[in-house]
Amino acid sequence: MMVETHRACLECDMLHEITEMHSGEAGYCQRCGAVLFRSQKNSLDGALAFALTGLIFFFLANLFPLLEFEMQGNIQTNRLIDGSIEFFSAGYGLLGLVVLLSSVVAPMLILLFLVSILLPLKFHKKPFFPEAQIRLLVHLRPWAMAEIFVLGIIVAYVKLGDFADVSLGVSLFSFVFMVLATLLAYVTLDMKDLWYRLGELQKK
Ligand SMILES: [Zn+2]
Repeated sequence: MMVETHRACLECDMLHEITEMHSGEAGYCQRCGAVLFRSQKNSLDGALAFALTGLIFFFLANLFPLLEFEMQGNIQTNRLIDGSIEFFSAGYGLLGLVVLLSSVVAPMLILLFLVSILLPLKFHKKPFFPEAQIRLLVHLRPWAMAEIFVLGIIVAYVKLGDFADVSLGVSLFSFVFMVLATLLAYVTLDMKDLWYRLGELQKK
């Protein structure tokens, strides 16, 4: 991907060279004073913090049961991974794979890529294959449908509540927090800022 070196003013077309810009700063046109670009304040640090938080919640969500059922004295617990295992063992391999990818693999990879891009940048180091990682990050986004799983689990909770004792596990709350942290990481991350920082490191 090309790193932008010049930008024309939207108001008067004057061409400006893009110089080093720190987080939270803005660039203005020298002739008419219009805003040329504005960097979100600490967008990379913020996104990194959300991604790390998301990873912690991801591990908690996978360690503990999502739901616990009690029916006629039998207690059954359900982990995040159990959904796809059930599909696999029932012979619905493809469905199991989709569920595994969208509820576990994609959300985890997104958080790992975010951290492996942003953590080295925090220490002014070049991440490994940053372009490839960013491309994967963009392609994985539609696969991470964890939000939909949260809804599905809540629906199951309400429905099953009629004929079984259902209690929500620690993991469900962790899962909801993981989804929120991932969304916030995406919202906070300023791609312009990211490419700019990568470009700066490439020059060295
Ligand atoms: Zn101008």
